[in-house]
Amino acid sequence: MRIIDILRQEGVHISFEVFPPKTDAGYGTVLHAVDDIGALKPAFISVTYGAGGGTSKNTVNIAAHIKDDLHVPSLAHLTCASSTKPEVEKVIKRLKKRGIENVLALRGDLPKDVDFPIQNHYRYASELIQDIKAQGDLCVGAACYPEGHVESEHKEEDILHLKEKVDCGVDFLTTQMFFDNSILYNFLYRIREKGINVPVLPGIMPVTNGKQMERICALSGTVLPQRFRAIVDRFGDDPRAMSQAGIAYATDQIIDLIANGINNIHIYSMNKPEIAAAIMTNLSEIIK
Ligand code: FAD
Repeated sequence: MRIIDILRQEGVHISFEVFPPKTDAGYGTVLHAVDDIGALKPAFISVTYGAGGGTSKNTVNIAAHIKDDLHVPSLAHLTCASSTKPEVEKVIKRLKKRGIENVLALRGDLPKDVDFPIQNHYRYASELIQDIKAQGDLCVGAACYPEGHVESEHKEEDILHLKEKVDCGVDFLTTQMFFDNSILYNFLYRIREKGINVPVLPGIMPVTNGKQMERICALSGTVLPQRFRAIVDRFGDDPRAMSQAGIAYATDQIIDLIANGINNIHIYSMNKPEIAAAIMTNLSEIIK
């Protein structure tokens, strides 16, 4: 099923994200986690893509397994910066052959020590989106950044590039994680003002490892609010307490989003079915 058709339906839609194993040895463990997340019957499950394309086979296989065996719609991520255009095209062909209808089209992080543009490579996600949409048959999502992408000097400039990207035919957007909903509301106001009207799925990260998250946020430019810092300071060294606090914080963010009329929410559940299940339990009366 096409994700844009799900997002247009009435009701609240919660989706989850999983990532493929780095090596084939981890495939079984990841599949087990995916099966448990699928049993929660989310609106869809997205499968990330290794930056260099090294795990592309597993992304395709897991996305096909979710759709065919768990009967849950799947969304396959696809990055393009580290691969040639023919290599990317090969992955698209493989996705279509397996009947996968939804792709999150991304540039990916730029490979180090390489000067862009490179011949026969995509430079921005918008170019990849244009090529996929020209083929006509896939539902295409793209990434957006409520706090601005790290490479952009100004949020305004990032939103202008986002508009160019959406104008290439993007069906929906998923946001980078954020920990302060007012940042999301402000971003939505600004992009709607610029004529970006496709559905936007806020990306919520339940933080269960506070110290690791501080490092990730420093790299991605995500602001950690004081309320969140206090939680990490207090519980960061106690994994079980941090996990409980992280689930509660994410639940709180999600309830606030739903209360403010946002019906489509993506959760970065990171191969942790117990976290996905705890959030679904917390929301059971809210999303019924
Ligand atoms: P783009 O949309 O191409 O933007 C990249 C930068 O270029 C931005 O600063 C933008 O403002 C700028 N830009 C765009 N167009 C132009 C232009 N015409 N001129 C000048 N500047 C321009 N990474 C992975 O490796 N695997 C994944 O599975 C993955 N999943 C993700 C899922 C989500 C929801 C998000 C938010 C990110 C994900 N990422 C993933 C990370 C992503 O690949 C990086 O953030 C990457 O650096 C940017 O990708 P993009 O598609 O947003 O790039």
